[in-house]
Amino acid sequence: MHMDTLEAKERVVKAGRKLVESKLIARTWGNVSCRISDSHFVITPRGRDYLQMTVNDIVEVAIADCSYSGDVKPSSEKAMHAAVYKQYPEVNFVIHTHQENASVVSAAGLEAMKVVGEYPLLGGEVICAEYALPTTTKLARKVSKVLMRKGGQAVILAKHGALCFGVSDDEAFQVATDLETACADYVNSQYNHLSGNNSGDLVELSYYAISRLMGKPQPLPEAMESGFYFESERTDSGFRLKLNNGATIEVKSGELHSSMPEEAKLLNEIYQSFNDINYIVHTNSLSVAAVSHADLTVRPLLDDFAQLVGTSVKTVTPWNAPRIRSALKHASAVLLHREGALCCGSTRSDATAVAMVLEKNCKALIGASLFGPVKPIHQLESMLMRFMYLKSYSKQAAKKS
Ligand SMILES: [Zn+2]
Repeated sequence: MHMDTLEAKERVVKAGRKLVESKLIARTWGNVSCRISDSHFVITPRGRDYLQMTVNDIVEVAIADCSYSGDVKPSSEKAMHAAVYKQYPEVNFVIHTHQENASVVSAAGLEAMKVVGEYPLLGGEVICAEYALPTTTKLARKVSKVLMRKGGQAVILAKHGALCFGVSDDEAFQVATDLETACADYVNSQYNHLSGNNSGDLVELSYYAISRLMGKPQPLPEAMESGFYFESERTDSGFRLKLNNGATIEVKSGELHSSMPEEAKLLNEIYQSFNDINYIVHTNSLSVAAVSHADLTVRPLLDDFAQLVGTSVKTVTPWNAPRIRSALKHASAVLLHREGALCCGSTRSDATAVAMVLEKNCKALIGASLFGPVKPIHQLESMLMRFMYLKSYSKQAAKKS
């Protein structure tokens, strides 16, 4: 029995909101669809906010050739969804996410992840589809290939995220949630296997992995502080610095004196050098903090890092203004040796998104390194994704203003 189109659209809208609330996706990354017949499904549109979405934004798409009608463009990953509906007549709901732990496993270059624990919906193993650039027919073909193998109701997409499906929306959600736990357990059991430590402590795991990457033991930091140290925002006369103890300092660029903290002098230089930066956050989240000890150049292990952050993020001496400025010419973030990272954007939402994607990519570097040498996305592919992202971003900004 098939669902009425309007009801299907309502379920997709509801599921989009639930995905954001459950933190399985952020912003417009990821998409949701629901089957309405043997030949059609409805899917979320391209690049719209899930919290503002209505049934009028949901697009009907043909399973056979992904054709659609109307003014609203369907998600550019529609072909992956169609591949699932083609392969499994009993599946009525598909979710594509960039969820954190599945992304970590997706960066490890595995053919499949063995499922430990009681997750019947996942089957005995979750198969990983080979890498292809997002939104391409090549990626959809690789997903189809994996779906033909007998597996559970989830597929991991190399260096990208996951695809989860079920007979209903509730079941597809259960698959996504189970996958998140199973992936975290999988990384942790590898850590346990290598180190003999079964504490499950993420700080210990992170510094153990960084020590292996550096080839020398890395002591745990005395006290792990996390979250933002400060945020700062451009103002008409300079910038406003908000410290994490709640204090706010207004700085006028013309009135900076030598008694000001190094951070303020640095922020002043960044705002003066980059017209498109209006917001800067300093993050010291767990994985970013750990990676900042390693003095590495971090390259994209995940598509959304290449798009939002850049093709390489350098580690520099904290508050060294010339080197930080030069690093920010090529990326939206810079790692500060042993001090976390600065993440920049034209709005607060952009800067915090950069911080979130940087944390995920650093977590992926840590997790994936436990399974062998970590291979970043090919440089040319990263450059292409970054270019396309910046182009569509400036187009959207022009539309708004
Ligand atoms: Zn995606």
